[in-house]
Amino acid sequence: MQLNYIANAGVPSSSGHLIPVIDPSDGKPFDELQRSNAQDIDAAVQAARQCLDAVWSKISAAERGRLLMKLSAKVAEHADELALIEQRDCGKPTKQARADALALVRYFEFYAGACDKLHGETLPYQDGYSVFTWREPHGVTGHIIPWNYPMQIFGRSVGGALAAGNVCVVKPSEDACLSLIRVAQLAAEVGFPPGALNIVTGYGHEVGDALARHEGIDHISFTGSPKVGTLIQQVAAERHCPVTLELGGKSPQIIFADADLDAALPVVINAIVQNAGQTCSAGSRLLVEQAIYEPLLERLGKTFANLRVGPAAMDLDIGPLIRQSQQQRVWDFLSDAHVASIPMVAQGQIVDEAPDTGYYQAPTLLRDVPVMHRLAQEEVFGPVLAAMSFRDEDHAVELANATRFGLVAGIWTRDGARQFRMAKRVKSGQVFINNYGAGGGVELPFGGVKSSGYGREKGFEALYGFTTLKTVAIRHG
Ligand code: NAD
Repeated sequence: MQLNYIANAGVPSSSGHLIPVIDPSDGKPFDELQRSNAQDIDAAVQAARQCLDAVWSKISAAERGRLLMKLSAKVAEHADELALIEQRDCGKPTKQARADALALVRYFEFYAGACDKLHGETLPYQDGYSVFTWREPHGVTGHIIPWNYPMQIFGRSVGGALAAGNVCVVKPSEDACLSLIRVAQLAAEVGFPPGALNIVTGYGHEVGDALARHEGIDHISFTGSPKVGTLIQQVAAERHCPVTLELGGKSPQIIFADADLDAALPVVINAIVQNAGQTCSAGSRLLVEQAIYEPLLERLGKTFANLRVGPAAMDLDIGPLIRQSQQQRVWDFLSDAHVASIPMVAQGQIVDEAPDTGYYQAPTLLRDVPVMHRLAQEEVFGPVLAAMSFRDEDHAVELANATRFGLVAGIWTRDGARQFRMAKRVKSGQVFINNYGAGGGVELPFGGVKSSGYGREKGFEALYGFTTLKTVAIRHG
C-alpha cells in the first residue's frame, strides 16, 4: 500500500479510503493509493510552509543546486527501478519508461546548474537613485501532474520550482503516482529538508481541487486537459493565484513535396506512436502537399501495418493505453470516423500475448480527414494519425492553424526561405524544422498558445515563471 509523502515521512490519508492501482497491461489491480482529501492537502501545505520559513529560504542558491545535483545522481542510480515502477503503473514499453527516468535525471541536473544563475538586474533611472530587481520565489507551489509522463512532467515542473527557491506540494494523477512517491523518498535520502517536497495522492475533483483552492498555495503549475485547466483557472482567480497551464494539442506535421522523406517518415511515425499517442505534443495531424500525398500514404501505411502492440514488458512499438475509459475514448473517435466514411489506410497489430483484459489499441492511419471533423480538431490521446492534403504554402498554414490548439508544429522542407516563413506563420509554442521533438529537450522552453495553455516550463525560461520580480528603488541623493 502506498502512503502520501509529507515532511519526509509516509503518512496515510485522514479519509481512511484507498484507490486501487491498475496495471494497464492486464487491467488487474496490484497496489493501493491513499484517497486523500482537503485535510491532507492542508497538512502538506503546512509542512511546506514551515520548511520554507525555517530552512529552505535560508540556504543559498548554490546549496539548492548541490541538493538537486545529488537528487539527479540518486535518480540515475535508481533509473532501472523507477522505469520498472512506471512501466507497471502506466503500461509503458521498457524503452519509453527508461527514457522517462533518464529525462528526470536530466531535469534535475539542468535545474541544479541553473539555481545560482538566476538573478535580477540593475535599471537606469533618475539621477540620485539606484534601482534593481530581485527574483523571489512564489513560496509554496502546487503541482498537478497528469498520467502520461509522470516522471518527465514532475521533473520539469518541480525541478524548476525548487531551483527557483520554492517548496512544493504535488498532486499526481490518480492513474500514475508510484514513481513520484519513490522520487520523493529519494529526495529525502539525499538531504532535502522535511517539507520541501510533498506528495499527496487522490482524485482530481477531491484533492486536486483542494490543492487549487488552498489559501497557502502561492502558484499552481497544472498540466492536463483543457477542461480541467479551465476549472483550475476559475478556482485560482478567486484568490488571484498565478497559474501556469500546460494543456493539450493537435499538433501538425507539415510535409512539403521537397522534404527528405527518408528522414521525415520515421520521425512522423514516432511522434504519434510514442507512448501510444498519449502525448500532449503528439504529431496527430499529418498535412501533406498534394503532389506526394498518395505515395507518402502508401509508404506510411506499410509501416503502420507492421507496428506491434502488446504488454509493456514485451517492449514492442506500443504498449496499452492507460485505462479502460481512455480505450473507450479512442474507440469512440474511430467509430465517428467510420460513420463519417473517413477512409482507413492501415492499422497495426495487437499481438496474441496481449491479455483481453488489457487496454490495447492498434495504431491507425486515417486519410482525407475533413478539417472540421473532430478527428482533426480534438485530441484523441491515442495512436491515431489524421492525414489530409494541402495545395500550397498558404493552404498548409490555414490547415495548420485551423484548430483551437497551438502547442507544437513539425515542418518538413528543404527550402530555407520557406522554413522561416512557415515557422513565423504557424501558431504554436514550439516549431521543429526537419525534426520533431514531441515536447523537445529539457533545455527548450515548452508551452502553448490558444487553448494549449500559457506560461512556459522547461529550459531556463521556466525559472522566470516560478519567481516573482520585486523592484527596489533607493534614493541616495
Ligand atoms: P486531466 O486534466 O484529467 O488530469 C490532469 C490532472 O488534474 C490529474 O492529476 C487529475 O487528477 C487532476 N484533476 C482532475 N480534475 C481536477 C479538478 N477538478 N481540480 C484539480 N485537479 C484535477 O488530464 P489527464 O487525463 O490526466 O491528462 C491528459 C491531458 O493532459 C491531455 O489533454 C493532454 O494533452 C494533457 N497534457 C498536456 C501536457 C502539456 O505539457 N501541454 C502534457 C501532458 C498532458
